[in-house]
Amino acid sequence: MDVQEISLEHMRTALDEACRGVLSGDGGPFGAVVVKDGKVIATGHNMVVVTNDPTMHAEVTAIRNCCKKLGTFDLSGCVLYTSCYPCPMCMGACLWARFDAIYYAASAEQAAAIGFDDKAFYDFLKNPVSDDLRKLEHVEVDDYLMPFQMWSNKPDKTTY
Ligand SMILES: [Zn+2]
Repeated sequence: MDVQEISLEHMRTALDEACRGVLSGDGGPFGAVVVKDGKVIATGHNMVVVTNDPTMHAEVTAIRNCCKKLGTFDLSGCVLYTSCYPCPMCMGACLWARFDAIYYAASAEQAAAIGFDDKAFYDFLKNPVSDDLRKLEHVEVDDYLMPFQMWSNKPDKTTY
């Protein structure tokens, strides 16, 4: 894999996007930029508050903007610059997007220091079982593997 060199300019763009988000009141202080072949394809900042959507983190917003722009769900060949180490949801989104690289500035600990749950969620995921805050349980129901069987047997499926 031939990963593009780290660009401080692109990280600065991600930080500017984060600051823009704070000033707008859209959500938390996070920004992200998707870059391909050295060019910024899409940007995004946290929009949880303005959209009433807990998934509208900077990385997710940038991924959605980029996929819409490029007309694909596969962002291999792209790299992500994000103002903060991705939370577990965004890290998952980055994996699904197939980025070649993820570059971050602030750490999860630094986000925790200003009140964000990234570190607590990472701690939960080290051993994700029911705890005082939430239940996590397997539910047995008839034919629960039916969707998987349908998928396996579908000749014209789009794999990803
Ligand atoms: Zn996130």
